[in-house]
Amino acid sequence: MASYDVIVIGAGPGGYVAAIRAAQLGLKTACVEGRETLGGTCLNVGCIPSKALLHASHQLHEAEHNFAKMGLKGKSPSVDWPTMLGYKDDVIGQNTKGIEFLFKKNKIDWLKGWGSIPAAGKVKVGDEVHEAKNIIIATGSEAASLPGIEIDESIVVTSTGALELGKIPKRLAVIGAGVIGLELGSVYSRLGSEVTVIEYLDAITPGMDAEVQKSFQKILAKQGLKFILGAAVSGVETLKTKAKVSYALRKDGSEATLDADVVLVATGRKPYTDGLGLAELGVEMTERGQIKTDGHWRTNVDGIYAIGDAIVGPMLAHKAEDEGMAAAEVIAGKAGHVNYDVIPGVIYTHPEVANVGLTEQALKEAGRAYKVGKFSFMGNGRAKANFAADGFVKILADKETDRILGCHIIGPAAGDLIHEVCVAMEFGASAEDLALTCHAHPTYSEAVREAALACGDGAIHA
Ligand code: FAD
Repeated sequence: MASYDVIVIGAGPGGYVAAIRAAQLGLKTACVEGRETLGGTCLNVGCIPSKALLHASHQLHEAEHNFAKMGLKGKSPSVDWPTMLGYKDDVIGQNTKGIEFLFKKNKIDWLKGWGSIPAAGKVKVGDEVHEAKNIIIATGSEAASLPGIEIDESIVVTSTGALELGKIPKRLAVIGAGVIGLELGSVYSRLGSEVTVIEYLDAITPGMDAEVQKSFQKILAKQGLKFILGAAVSGVETLKTKAKVSYALRKDGSEATLDADVVLVATGRKPYTDGLGLAELGVEMTERGQIKTDGHWRTNVDGIYAIGDAIVGPMLAHKAEDEGMAAAEVIAGKAGHVNYDVIPGVIYTHPEVANVGLTEQALKEAGRAYKVGKFSFMGNGRAKANFAADGFVKILADKETDRILGCHIIGPAAGDLIHEVCVAMEFGASAEDLALTCHAHPTYSEAVREAALACGDGAIHA
């Protein structure tokens, strides 16, 4: 048995960041992880492996569609799937080993195994019970399915199975047009699968700016993805090597089926808190199974904190990381803070989609007076040169004060561009502040400045 200032349960981006920050602040820290490797969902079966496959398949797409136009002629590369999966696994290995290195560097003990909390101030791992002045629960989430669908991770898969399919399916059905479904759908579409996305709502990427939704769907359709929207899936029947998805169109109730070799169920994720003993401890939960916390990530039980996917809020790695840092700072007596109004969201397809702050729909609902500055990548020289002129930047600013309220981008490197707007919003900047900032030419970020100019006297290249 050992005694710690902080024991973190779960070594995903929330947990490992919390552990590192706690150790940096001089607290004796351990982190419990039941998986073979550190890094959680994000590094092992989430953000990192999906981005590796998106990168590899995007290179193929560029070679097939754009190389010849630039005078790069010759045979297009063919796909060696086992090698591509090997590349993805190498990327995972490098990243998870990196966290192990950081744990050693910061003198954090990795308590290997599944942890539980037999009482406040105690964490049990295997047969050992450790003492902890503070416990941070960072146990993350798991894929959620639908009634009538049995996951076998070979024909009917979650994102985890989709990252290591035995072969590239001829026909892939994706249930759910959210971030994960569209990213993995894009990967397989570029690798040659016929991809059909079935979505319950009438638009893809629920909750995003409506103009971005429409434009994004059009672009993905041009790339070959098919969409069945407004369709309620009632079940998936698995045959020997394929599956049949049954659904009903919500507008008229008509029923239909879709045959596929693989079905990816991408209908969201739910918090994972199994085996921790929270009910026995009396830790309060929300109706959706999230751990309830106050503004400082404290649960209702003294000395127990919770962060990341296991609590309320967007299920994003960077949100979990920020909460991890902040919770550790609170425990160390500092003022940990997360600004939930400025958390970017990114879809890593090509083009990328990124957003921060409020949508036009939310502003309308709130009855708030706003103005829109929009600029198309068609007017951006760098984007045109790189065959990446699909999409636009849209900045929403307060009509009176010009303060930036939100930004929605679909276009090249949108996931990086969004951060200049995040910084601007963090500093309470106006659209004019962005418009007056000199931007290097020729860069994609000039499109952000042009959108900011469009909030005032007008964009130059529109
Ligand atoms: P997790 O990363 O889920 O980590 C929790 C860890 O706790 C796990 O390793 C688990 O084994 C461990 N654990 C659980 N219970 C116990 C226990 N009792 N004892 C010991 N260990 C335990 N987010 C983004 O921001 N960008 C992306 O591009 C992105 N892409 C994604 C792609 C996919 C396919 C998926 C599935 C998710 C993606 N996400 C992305 C979401 C992101 O992975 C999560 O938001 C993030 O990992 C949450 O971090 P966390 O630390 O809360 O939990």
